[in-house]
Amino acid sequence: MSDNHQGSCLCGAVRFRTSGTLRGVVYCHCSQCRKQSGHFYAATNVADPDIVIDGTESITWYEASSFAKRGFCKTCGSLLFWKPRDDAYISVLAGSFDTPTALKGECHIFVGDKGDYYSIDDGLPQFEKSTPSIPVAE
Ligand SMILES: [Zn+2]
Ligand SMILES: [Zn+2]
Repeated sequence: MSDNHQGSCLCGAVRFRTSGTLRGVVYCHCSQCRKQSGHFYAATNVADPDIVIDGTESITWYEASSFAKRGFCKTCGSLLFWKPRDDAYISVLAGSFDTPTALKGECHIFVGDKGDYYSIDDGLPQFEKSTPSIPVAE
């Protein structure tokens, strides 16, 4: 099995390749992720040196907070990246990977902020806010 993965936005203007093991998928239910995605976020993580992004001119970066910026394709709107300002990794939206992804769910964060129209019943750990291993905006 190769540890290399690739993915893209819906229209293909932005493509990326990753190397190395990907973190389990963290589902974020905070209000920023809900508003931006229309539901909730599902993202893995890659160290900065382990990802190559093509078509960066097609990415719009939105700074929802001073802590991190959110990258999406300016043509098709696909959510792609979440990039903390001070850390050397980038979160990549799980749904943007080409399948099979071999990704597995890890946990849910900010369940205290979740929408009231769905329930979380996959048995994964749930955190009211975040956990120390997953830095987020205050
Ligand atoms: Zn696109
Ligand atoms: Zn969030």
